[in-house]
Amino acid sequence: MSECVFCRIAEGRASATILHEDDQLLAFRDINPQAPTHILVIPREHVRTLDDLEDRHAEIVGRMHLVAQQVARELGIAEDGYRTVFNCRAAAGQSVFHIHLHLLGGRRMHWPPG
Ligand code: 5GP
Ligand code: ZN
Repeated sequence: MSECVFCRIAEGRASATILHEDDQLLAFRDINPQAPTHILVIPREHVRTLDDLEDRHAEIVGRMHLVAQQVARELGIAEDGYRTVFNCRAAAGQSVFHIHLHLLGGRRMHWPPG
């Protein structure tokens, strides 16, 4: 049994507001949103960090962005614009060690990010 919270969501053993699900990926609402729209896109496969990706993951990482694009359009934030972020390890503030693409929108984003 996996103790990883995102594996638990992917396996249907923890609840989340899921917006997209297919055989490889899920997109669901972040439990502690940092913007009016804050979605996480994850692969079903447990990969700890961006630094653990391998060549075989190239397609899935590309598809994570296409799912973000699709969800952004469905939620009506695509035209105004949005931000996607991967946090990798401690210095970036990664707190869940199952890779996830943050999709943030619905407000003006600041640059540089904190
Ligand atoms: P990180 O800091 O690792 O880049 O982002 C982890 C994100 O996962 C945070 O934004 C946090 O709010 C979110 N998160 C943590 N636990 C859960 C959970 O159980 N369900 C959902 N939907 N989001 C979670
Ligand atoms: Zn996991």
